[in-house]
Amino acid sequence: MENLFSYIEKIIPGINDAWDREKISDLAILNTPEAVLSKNSFLLNADMKFIWFSWFIESIYDYHKASDDISYPEVVSSVRRGLLKTGFNESDQKFNEVWKSISRLTYKLISKSSGRSREHLTRSTKYDLIERSKGAPYCWICGHRFSNESIDKFSNIDAEIKLPELIDYFLQKGLKERDLKIEVEHKMPFISGGGDLSDLDNIELCCGFCNRYKWKFISIYDANRSLKTFIHPRTGNTSIPQPYWAIRMLALAEGCSEPNCTAKKEKTALFVDLINDIGSATPTNLKVVCKKHLKNRGDRFLGREHFENRNTNRNSFI
Ligand SMILES: [Zn+2]
Ligand SMILES: [Zn+2]
Repeated sequence: MENLFSYIEKIIPGINDAWDREKISDLAILNTPEAVLSKNSFLLNADMKFIWFSWFIESIYDYHKASDDISYPEVVSSVRRGLLKTGFNESDQKFNEVWKSISRLTYKLISKSSGRSREHLTRSTKYDLIERSKGAPYCWICGHRFSNESIDKFSNIDAEIKLPELIDYFLQKGLKERDLKIEVEHKMPFISGGGDLSDLDNIELCCGFCNRYKWKFISIYDANRSLKTFIHPRTGNTSIPQPYWAIRMLALAEGCSEPNCTAKKEKTALFVDLINDIGSATPTNLKVVCKKHLKNRGDRFLGREHFENRNTNRNSFI
């Protein structure tokens, strides 16, 4: 609590001084107490590192401009020039090691993302993926169990996917057919260099909903930082998370976070819920639970008629 208090004393005036260089410098060296990041501090810290690192790598050498047939020695030489122009010195300790690591990574990113055409999803790959799930396929991100109709459709058999009567307002999956269809998902996005359909380690089955919101994002900060609002028929103006935040947490979760609960994603669908139910749905206030452990279950699932024009973006105070 003491850490939190001294943090609050500095950060509150900082909000008003966001355009003041000196005040901002003070904030930069301020450590963020664990309490602010909640139980999700591992995710919030790790994802920030991905962002900073990807900016750093791209600042050394803009590999998006490289031609498809660029050779490894050319990349190595560009990375060296980039490091020198950035202000590093060849006599710096570990310069060569840093240079080599960045060159290798950059070359990998170029050769994996350039000039590739997407492979076509064949019937036999689809069959292999259904087989791999032992005939009970589910979304690797949210644990949603696919219906027989979805499996038929995926297997090119004529079928109609029934849309559910009730929709979870928090993550509005099932408003359209695509949400419940089986799609093949590249864990590491194809456009970011992830392996394509023949790389079975990089592909998983996923519901159309999760696939759509996961898109090419990898970090929780990639999605819009604002919260959304849903006009709930009982509780009124209610905050809901950016779908991607929920997707990122669901993808990393193995099961329900409730102590002593044994519900695992291989067996059941998972949901995100608020840690503190009178707080907003920020990434620091979300947890993954099974259906049984949703706090206000009665309010969560609403008839389809409640979902027309009820979502808006909410302004944040900063
Ligand atoms: Zn899903
Ligand atoms: Zn549970």
